[in-house]
Amino acid sequence: MKLRILTGLLAGAALLHQTGAQAGILPPPGDQALAHDLLSELISINTVHEQGTLRAAQALKARFLAAGFPESDLTLVVIPEHPNQGQLIVRLPSKSPKAKPVLWLGHLDVVEARPEDWTVPPFKLTERDGWWYGRGTQDMKADDVAVAISLIRLKREGFVPDRDLIAAFTSDEESGDANGVDWLLKNRRELVDAAFVINPDAGGGAFKQGVRQAYGIQTSEKVYVTFQAEVTNKGGHSSIPEPDNAIYRLAEGLGRLSRFHFPVETTPTTRGMFAVNATQETGQTAADMVAVSKLPTDLAAAERLSQTPRLASRLRTTCVATQISGGHAENALPQRARASIQCRMIPVDTEAQVKARLEEVLADPDIKLTVLVPSAPAPDSPTDPNLFKRFGQVVAASWPGIQIMPHMDLGASDSIFTRVNGIPSYGLSTIWTDAEDNRAHGRDERIRPERFYEGVEFSYRLMKALGTSGK
Ligand SMILES: [Zn+2]
Repeated sequence: MKLRILTGLLAGAALLHQTGAQAGILPPPGDQALAHDLLSELISINTVHEQGTLRAAQALKARFLAAGFPESDLTLVVIPEHPNQGQLIVRLPSKSPKAKPVLWLGHLDVVEARPEDWTVPPFKLTERDGWWYGRGTQDMKADDVAVAISLIRLKREGFVPDRDLIAAFTSDEESGDANGVDWLLKNRRELVDAAFVINPDAGGGAFKQGVRQAYGIQTSEKVYVTFQAEVTNKGGHSSIPEPDNAIYRLAEGLGRLSRFHFPVETTPTTRGMFAVNATQETGQTAADMVAVSKLPTDLAAAERLSQTPRLASRLRTTCVATQISGGHAENALPQRARASIQCRMIPVDTEAQVKARLEEVLADPDIKLTVLVPSAPAPDSPTDPNLFKRFGQVVAASWPGIQIMPHMDLGASDSIFTRVNGIPSYGLSTIWTDAEDNRAHGRDERIRPERFYEGVEFSYRLMKALGTSGK
């Protein structure tokens, strides 16, 4: 399960100054209609893991065929062991096949949504009070549509890029063992090999109190690893308690963990992020953000910022107890007590380092620490100045006055697979969200129609810019 976190970049409730035009940009009316129609179709196709993504991939393929894409530029791939998980790879070919392509990623699967939990049917695009509701509107079918419509529009306009533009619409990003990106890289690399990746499942912009904030370009993700802490004991009859008790031993270790903080660590990405965030804050918070955007790290400033949990998470590796179990009868001394400890590492840390540190903190040789879910580390993608200049130009032309900044996600996206395979990957979500209203994975997921349309237009501009003149 992966959580898309692109909001809440900023601290506290500081008053924010106006950062630029609030008005959006729009694609031509015909493309708006097509985008709405395609979004409606994709939302109506239930793509939770059990249902699979094949039908959605087929529906997309039909759209590309109808738009004049030849069969030879469309590849529908089904993972053999998972016949209901379909991937569609679309190629807009260039004149010169020498330049390495740019690859857009878009997952077609969605997180489960139970109709009884929602106030509208989750698998139907429903308009209500100026919002569009439906599972996948935020995560990430609207972004999939933005990418698809951009390709269709470029094709219609006869645009021939200077490098192939590829989009891969894939399965099982959210859950399940049929991750399409991982599978394609391992089995059909030639279909998706690229100079770099644009992944609209991460990064992007958020409104806060109705004001556009900076636009984050995700270059980095915290690395996920889960440990199990376990104490075993000979147990006995509860009428004769002994000082050595598995539950107490584990609880005391976890108590020590609760008071522990990993040291502050910044990276080029987080320093760049804090430097831009600082311009949108005031007073001490702004000064502290400037301080942690530099080296050596101002630890007092980091400590003050860390009073806000979401900022603390960006400044250090975190580990937290998430599950606990123990004992086998209410009238017996426990023979076993277990806890899950979930860690999100700053990418410069390693599983072995964090495990060693946790053992020190738990400070009890009888608490056995093992890896429950191993880490899958991926390198940060470089903040390439040429590429960032290009990103910045498209963002500024679309939303005047909006700054871009590198961004580290606390959650995970499919970019871990491309990054670990040596393909730098950049999260540029096209659809602005509300910092106060992030419903991805939640109930009554929704987007604003005007933000969807401007995302469709932004996606087109970005694709055209990256397809013009090779880097
Ligand atoms: Zn997603």
